[in-house]
Amino acid sequence: MLKYDVVIIGKGPAGLSAALYTTRANLKTLIIGKNDSSLRKAAKIENYFGFSSAVSGDYLLNETEKLVLSFGAEIVDDEVVSIEKTGTFKVITPNNEYEGTAVLIATGQPRKKLKIKNLEKFEGNGVSYCTTCDGYFYKNLKVGVLGNKDYAVHEAMELEAYTGNITIFTNGKELEVSQKYQNELSRFRINRKIITELNGADFLERIAFDDGTSEEIDGIFIADESASSVDFARKLGVMTQGNSIITDKDQQTNLKGLFAAGDCTVEFKQLATAVGSGALAGRKMIEYVRELNKERQTNVIK
Ligand SMILES: Cc1cc2nc3c(=O)[nH]c(=O)nc-3n(C[C@H](O)[C@H](O)[C@H](O)COP(=O)(O)OP(=O)(O)OC[C@H]3O[C@@H](n4cnc5c(N)ncnc54)[C@H](O)[C@@H]3O)c2cc1C
Repeated sequence: MLKYDVVIIGKGPAGLSAALYTTRANLKTLIIGKNDSSLRKAAKIENYFGFSSAVSGDYLLNETEKLVLSFGAEIVDDEVVSIEKTGTFKVITPNNEYEGTAVLIATGQPRKKLKIKNLEKFEGNGVSYCTTCDGYFYKNLKVGVLGNKDYAVHEAMELEAYTGNITIFTNGKELEVSQKYQNELSRFRINRKIITELNGADFLERIAFDDGTSEEIDGIFIADESASSVDFARKLGVMTQGNSIITDKDQQTNLKGLFAAGDCTVEFKQLATAVGSGALAGRKMIEYVRELNKERQTNVIK
């Protein structure tokens, strides 16, 4: 497994800002993310420090990416499907696994809720967002995973510890799965119909589709698009409030060594606050890693 002092998940302003600090402090830093920062949608930014005329989000991100690369950061275009606490942290993508002493979640705003009738009604009663938390309740039962990408396949694989009866529901979308996960798909049933409604009495019993058909189901796990900040938080037991991760004044979550910054944490979701909270997280991760290294050295000498 590739080892880093700091693994940053997200290459928007929060993640890149943190990397400016960690790289210049000589910490081995990896940034994992895609080119879909919400700032890329902003053609004209007029409320950021240092520019006398409007500047595009693309320009700011591309220039900052060049800067962090020049300071020695590594950037990987990939999607994180899981973070595990293993003493340090294991960060898992469809293509690789990375070890980080400190990890920053800077994945932006969590995705919007799916518009499926009764989805909210059955949350906690057949609808789950966390295989680690709830998989056990579905031992030997018939479950579904809703999603069409790597994250959905990863979650289906997590559920195999409990049941062999798993369907991936793409909700009308085509599967977009990396080569590694393509090879796993044969173990799951794939349903490509559009889901219209969930039905049941107190607990989920049936899933209905737009062609008028339906099928029985005991539980469905939502793993739509990429894993979001709240998905990571749920699995790691990190405290959240609504759709935000709760951090202390140092941008650290309730899990030591796990930090969060940017739109997934702050109420005022703006470039300036993403850069600011990312910078603070960067500084505090430097202190965290140095302190840990010092402790390790002292233990070796003893
Ligand atoms: C249309 C629009 C216009 C805006 N205009 C302005 C403006 O004028 N001024 C202003 O101050 N703010 C503006 N904003 C807000 C600003 O863009 C955000 O506040 C800012 O981008 C938040 O930064 P972030 O780093 O927290 O998240 P983001 O910029 O959203 O970056 C998130 C990063 O996380 C990555 N990621 C997500 N999930 C995963 C995963 N599972 N694995 C790996 N990587 C992952 C993404 O690929 C992305 O790289 C605008 C936003 C929009 C949508």
